[in-house]
Amino acid sequence: MATETEYDLIVIGSGPGGQKAAVAAAKLGKKVAVVEHGHMLGGVCVNTGTIPSKTLREAVMYLTGMNQRELYGSSYRVKEKITPADLQERTSHVIRREIDVIRDQLVRNRVDLYLGRASFADANTVTVEGRDESEHRTLTGDFIVIATGTTPRRPDGIDFDAERVLDSDEIVSLDFIPTSMVVVGAGVIGIEYASIFAALGTKVTVVEKRDTMLDFCDPEVVEALAFHLRESKVTFRFGEEVTSVDVSPTGTLTCLASGKQIAAEAVMYSAGRTGRTEALDLKAAGLEADGRGLLEVDDQFRTKVKHIFSVGDVIGFPALAATSMDQGRLAAYHAFDEPVHDMTDLQPIGIYTIPEVSFVGATESELTEKAIPYEFGVSRYRELARGQIAGDSYGMLKLLVSTEDRKLLGVHIFGSSATELVHIGQAVMGCGGTVDYLVDAVFNYPTFSEAYKVAALDVMNKMRSVESFHKAMADKEEEPADA
Ligand SMILES: Cc1cc2nc3c(=O)[nH]c(=O)nc-3n(C[C@H](O)[C@H](O)[C@H](O)COP(=O)(O)OP(=O)(O)OC[C@H]3O[C@@H](n4cnc5c(N)ncnc54)[C@H](O)[C@@H]3O)c2cc1C
Repeated sequence: MATETEYDLIVIGSGPGGQKAAVAAAKLGKKVAVVEHGHMLGGVCVNTGTIPSKTLREAVMYLTGMNQRELYGSSYRVKEKITPADLQERTSHVIRREIDVIRDQLVRNRVDLYLGRASFADANTVTVEGRDESEHRTLTGDFIVIATGTTPRRPDGIDFDAERVLDSDEIVSLDFIPTSMVVVGAGVIGIEYASIFAALGTKVTVVEKRDTMLDFCDPEVVEALAFHLRESKVTFRFGEEVTSVDVSPTGTLTCLASGKQIAAEAVMYSAGRTGRTEALDLKAAGLEADGRGLLEVDDQFRTKVKHIFSVGDVIGFPALAATSMDQGRLAAYHAFDEPVHDMTDLQPIGIYTIPEVSFVGATESELTEKAIPYEFGVSRYRELARGQIAGDSYGMLKLLVSTEDRKLLGVHIFGSSATELVHIGQAVMGCGGTVDYLVDAVFNYPTFSEAYKVAALDVMNKMRSVESFHKAMADKEEEPADA
């Protein structure tokens, strides 16, 4: 029988956005409920997206020994024959632990967890459809946070069978390591998986409608990544469209509009994601989603029904676990009038390809387009002692610095530890720091962080050359005409 329970806040979805909203409200002393589909505690982040893909990457890097090959030779392997079980063991272990941490956090903060599918009965009432009728509930809340995330978009006419033709949520459960694979879509997720499978020895073909990939990143970094992936036998088909995918008992055939046919053992689609709002009965709450299933919110994460908030992937860009968490926390604070700082625009981007890419701030193209004068400085890992020790000769760090006030405008990193290193630049930029701080700072030696100092010195030397030129010209103009 349905029972009714009253809450200060009901959160729908237990991914990073929902979790942080729930915990933040609970810490303010509010009575909070989280509703989650039974098998997905932690959301896409923990079960099928961020955590499994990053753990898979870590397992692949370790077992293939690829990070050590510059030192021990190209035949170096930690394990000769890597099996899906080797990879899944590590992923399942981490997922289990993460779910446990989340469950514990909810319990410790006295957040009630309801397992089942949530939908609106009205703007303050959520019904939970559990596995059987005894688990059905009706909850009422003063405030509601919708954090239901997204599901992979599946183009019409493609038969996804979860065996050979898979979407990006299913790929982590692939039960064989294909010798060849087509990845449709060269967005972040597509390229991350392309690089992971390439590292496993799979011959990957990436098919992308547009003429480029990752065009929000620094072009030099993207070029370096593309070069690296080609070296690992990745083929890029840019400006090409898939017309059909056929499946036989032994493999797949992907046909392109240009007439090309690509035979491969598996196909992974990574062609965008759609907001998970269909099952919510939004109309009952006075809400509607856009054509992509996404919800519109204001800068406090309120929907047009002011006591209903929405955070995370279901509100669209940037659709990252990192930002979803903060959106959740801020939504809870706004709901309960807790003073908050707005979300900063200075957000790092991490792309966990092999090798990894990360950046914060502006790109050279953006600065050029806006005619903002800047100087750049580069440090190559092969010139750092740490680069030699780690066997990373390809990595690089690039700084972009304003020539007007010497402030850091952007940091772009390719190679080992890029996603960690970027936070040094982020901190300097966030505090309005200049290149002088990095020139004067003493870093541990030997570290990758030292790249900041090397690149900063490179910037300073270039700026000094320009200044010397101007000084020489000024001196010349001051010289008496008959001298
Ligand atoms: C392959 C992949 C790799 C990624 N890698 C990264 C990365 O490296 N770094 C990064 O920052 N981000 C990454 N992301 C993005 C990240 O996973 C998402 O941004 C994040 O999970 C979004 O969190 P969320 O809280 O919005 O929702 P989600 O994590 O999507 O969780 C939503 C939850 O809501 C539940 N739900 C939905 N509808 C209902 C309903 N009606 N009733 C009850 N429950 C419901 C779902 O079951 C789900 O558990 C990756 C994503 C993918 C797919």
